[in-house]
Amino acid sequence: MSAILNSESLERFRDISKDSLRLKIKSLSDESAGSGDLSRPRILIIYTGGTIGMIENPDNHTLEPFDFEYLIDNVPKIKRLDYTIDSFQFDIPLDSSAMTPSHWQDIAYVIENFYADYDGFVVLHGTDTMAYTASALSFMLENLNKPVVITGSQLPIGEVRTDGEENLITSLQVAAARRPDGSPMLREVAILFENYLWRGNRATKYSADNFNAFKSSNFPRLAKIGMGITFRREVLWTPSYDEPLTVHYGMDTNVMYLNLFPGITVNMIRHAFNTPGLKGVVLKTYGAGNAPTDPEFISTIREAVDHGLVIVNVSQCDNGMVDPLRYQTGSVLYGAGVIPGHDLTSEAAITKLMFLFGQNYPIERVKELVEIPLVGEMN
Ligand code: ASP
Repeated sequence: MSAILNSESLERFRDISKDSLRLKIKSLSDESAGSGDLSRPRILIIYTGGTIGMIENPDNHTLEPFDFEYLIDNVPKIKRLDYTIDSFQFDIPLDSSAMTPSHWQDIAYVIENFYADYDGFVVLHGTDTMAYTASALSFMLENLNKPVVITGSQLPIGEVRTDGEENLITSLQVAAARRPDGSPMLREVAILFENYLWRGNRATKYSADNFNAFKSSNFPRLAKIGMGITFRREVLWTPSYDEPLTVHYGMDTNVMYLNLFPGITVNMIRHAFNTPGLKGVVLKTYGAGNAPTDPEFISTIREAVDHGLVIVNVSQCDNGMVDPLRYQTGSVLYGAGVIPGHDLTSEAAITKLMFLFGQNYPIERVKELVEIPLVGEMN
């Protein structure tokens, strides 16, 4: 796995023209039912893998990613939607724990190439790293003016009690929703799970069991989903630009988490900070952003910052925010040069650092931008 995915890595897309990508697109609509009707919403489903499309391996009974044809055969109802729906399948469907930034680039590349051809995109994805992909895409897709709805399921679509069918159909409906003037209702990267629609860079997977697997503790849901879908327009991301979509492929993976716990030693921390090439650390602190104040710990932090490491303070609590001036224990960290991550989720914090370093900004600019909301990821 490459450590630095700069825009040069776009080279790997050099031989993948839009025409060759187009060959991989399959129509799921019934021609006779008006798929040629240009007034119908046009949606592209991008299938990356995840439980939603998995089947059980008969030998060891583990779940493994499977083909999109199988997935879609299990949702015949999809044809009854009055939309033109096409699909694009990743060559190898993945369990999302195998996702890397290069897969985020692949998703972004497909969206960029077909941006003008569709009104919205539904990305089928495993739940394990869905919040990372959603956060990363929200930073990579600058000036996004169309819906990118990411969904998946807890039970495979072939199972009788699956949540996949409902999640897929509701995601398509969200992606197709329009405002009275015909423009898309949603213009951001969102996660749809059970009856919740979350801003993607605010969501976190919190349950390995529940159908309602995601939550967003610091930002409200984007729609009320029950018998109908009522968007909460006051909280939707409303871009004020008419600029074209600009995709930033650079993602620098020289970043890491450091989770504090009572008993963590300065040696461990030094060892982590000495990782060759390391540029950024998301320091997961207690409560409102508090950490030990012992002088050795603080001087280790200060030295690392002085040597150019960008350290962002994010709370181990899901709800609430880092307030560097609330407690003396938090203010000492702040004084040592640690940047408050405010109410960023861990997923948004780490992908934001990858993104900012991936743009080759000077360190001071990275530090400045970490604290500035770019796409609604923090209050
Ligand atoms: N391991 C699976 C994945 O993330 C879990 C899921 O999809 O729910 O791909």
